[in-house]
Order: sequence, then C-alpha cells, then structure tokens
Amino acid sequence: MPRLSEVITALENLWPAERAESWDAVGTVVGDPEQEVSRVLFAVDPVQEIVDEAVKLGADLLVTHHPLYLRGTTTVAAGTFKGRVVHTLIKHDIALHVAHTNADTADPGVSDALAGALDLRVVRPLVPDPSDPEGRRGLGRVCELDHPLTVRELAARAAERLPATAQGIRVAGDREATVRTVAVSGGSGDSLFDHVRAAGVDAFLTADLRHHPASEFIADRAHSAHGTHSPLALLDAAHWATEWPWCELAAAQLDEISDRREWGLRVHVSRTVTDPWTAHEASAPVTPAAPVTPATSVTPVTETPGAPN
Ligand SMILES: [Zn+2]
Repeated sequence: MPRLSEVITALENLWPAERAESWDAVGTVVGDPEQEVSRVLFAVDPVQEIVDEAVKLGADLLVTHHPLYLRGTTTVAAGTFKGRVVHTLIKHDIALHVAHTNADTADPGVSDALAGALDLRVVRPLVPDPSDPEGRRGLGRVCELDHPLTVRELAARAAERLPATAQGIRVAGDREATVRTVAVSGGSGDSLFDHVRAAGVDAFLTADLRHHPASEFIADRAHSAHGTHSPLALLDAAHWATEWPWCELAAAQLDEISDRREWGLRVHVSRTVTDPWTAHEASAPVTPAAPVTPATSVTPVTETPGAPN
C-alpha cells in the first residue's frame, strides 16, 4: 500500500503545482504524508456532501478540482462550512488534494475530458501555454467534429453526454447553423472570447457566460458575418457539468499509475451533483422573432410615460 506522499508525488507529476495560476491554491490541503492510501475519491467540489461520501466510501484521499480555501483564513472552526470540512476529513484520516488551474492547462486536462465526453477531436489548445515548446498544454481546446452537426444537434449531444443538471444547455445564435469546429473550455469561459474569435471556430461551449460578453459576442458575429469567418453560436452548460468529465479522466490516470506500480488502489469518481443550481422553471415558450418589417409600414408607438421598459 503506498503512502500518501507517494500518491501525491504521482499527482504532482500529472499536474505540477507550479503550472497553476498565481492566484490559485492547489496542492495538498489536509493529510499526513506518512498515512497509507488504499481508496481514492475524485470530485469537482470539496463540499460537505462530498466529504461525507468519502467517509461512507472509506476513502483515504479525496482529490478535488476546486480549492477548499482560495484565500487565507484565520479559522478552521467546525462552526464554519469549510472548517467543518477540515474537521470531518481529519477525524476520518482522509487527505484532501486539489488540482485546479494546473489541471485545466495539463495535457490531457479538463478541456480534453470535456471534448472527449462530446466525441470532439482535439486539434490544439485555445490559449497555448507559452512555456510548452510542444504547444500541447494550455487553456481550452479547439476541436473538430468528424461529421458536421447543427448547433441544435451539438447542444442535444452536450445535454445527453454531460451529467444532468437543472440548467441543461443554453444556446445563443442560429440553432440551424452548421458546426464543423468548436472551442471548448471547462468552467467559466467568459474571459476567452477574444481567443475564440481569433480561432475562427463555429461554436464555443463553456459555462458561466454572462449577459454582456455573450450579447456582444453574438452581435459582433452578426456584424462581421459578411466579412471574416466568425463564431456562430454559444453553448453554455453548468460549470460543474463541464468539469466533471475531468474526474473520470483523472481517476483513469491514477488507476493506470496504480496498476503500473502495483499499488492496488481503488479509485472512485463521485456522481453527486454539486452544481449549486438545483431547479429550472421553464418560462412560457419564447415567441419566434417576427420578420423585419419595412420602416414605412411600422405603426408609430405612443410611449406611455412611466411605463416599465
Ligand atoms: Zn471550475
């Protein structure tokens, strides 16, 4: 049976801590390097629900994508939600290790797992890591489809292949447009619009897209439709769902290492949905946009003072 320090060394080889963003907090949060490890659980979020699952499973190590503490703290009192997580872990001799932005940019990393779940062929990173001479590491992935799909079909595939969440998949853009190339980024992809535009792909699948960047992106696309090639559609999935496929990939990587070294680890992936959004009430069906009416036939609208707009 390997010691925690040996398993952590193997994880650090997959996702070196120095490749994490400077603001990030990755690595081992809880754990005695000397303790033995026989059972490992992978999950996206280090929340109490997941820690309770690790206890039930008899895990010795919990590996999560999201950090427990991103900033410093002055308390791990069990009265706080994060403190309670720490207490539960220590009481049950469970170590916690985090691989976050160092797993995002890894080869293979979070977006490779997302692309794999959707059967997309990865061509290159969306934002290559300049420190990688081979150009294989980086943020997001530019992918190709073996057979072109419409935006509607791609969204349906994402809804079917990614783990179910209350949110499902939101789409912006023409649902009947053809998609041959798609950029994907697990987690919040808001900051990557410039790179997506530059990549000239037909669609961008990510999570946490906000109103203004999405709206500007779509308007920009319409404006430049007659000129340069530009992205056609946005697909927005639940943050948790876009990162969960990485847990399966990472578990398979550790399982392979365990086999090679004859560690005999039992590696599990949590299927507990920890997306914070738990319900989705659909509005009345959205009426399709009316065809553009020539200006001459527009009936003047009398504004009612004080009417809501
Ligand atoms: Zn995330």
